[in-house]
Amino acid sequence: MSHSAFIGLGSNMADPAAQLVSAMNAIDRLPQTRVLARSGLYRSAPIGFLEQADFINAVVRIETSLSPHELLQALLALEQLQGRTREFQNAPRTLDLDVLLYDDLQHHEHGLTVPHPQMHKRAFVLQPLLEIAPDCVIPGVGTVRQAMQHCADQQLQRLH
Ligand code: AMP
Repeated sequence: MSHSAFIGLGSNMADPAAQLVSAMNAIDRLPQTRVLARSGLYRSAPIGFLEQADFINAVVRIETSLSPHELLQALLALEQLQGRTREFQNAPRTLDLDVLLYDDLQHHEHGLTVPHPQMHKRAFVLQPLLEIAPDCVIPGVGTVRQAMQHCADQQLQRLH
């Protein structure tokens, strides 16, 4: 398993903490894939569409032999399995899975952008990422630690 990747998880419906734990276990069961580290769970306020419940977020580090596109397809299938629907942008969701980083890849085509284009602006991604990878670098952006300094105003609460 030669590749290292980070996956962002989010949920704000149907017992979000349980959704995230279930998704982490499902990621660990993907073919040619193993979860190496799990962050704690964090509570964050919704972005964009504000009339919805807070989100629970986390990040996992994996090693995998799947290609970036194979990984994305596998994650989209897990979202479907856990009842994800897409009514409108920023709508409430049972499960959102994002490929944050894949080795030091910079890629933007065929429906996949890596590093994830919003990750460096979101405390609910950066703080859990820092927890499991304190020296992590976002290719083309800089260190996660630096990016987090620009998000210090965003409310985030670590649950356990
Ligand atoms: P969302 O509604 O936020 O779950 O967006 C999912 C869509 O974003 C997928 O259909 C992907 O094709 C696209 N996408 C592009 N880059 C990424 C990424 N790094 N991780 C997850 N989805 C991505």
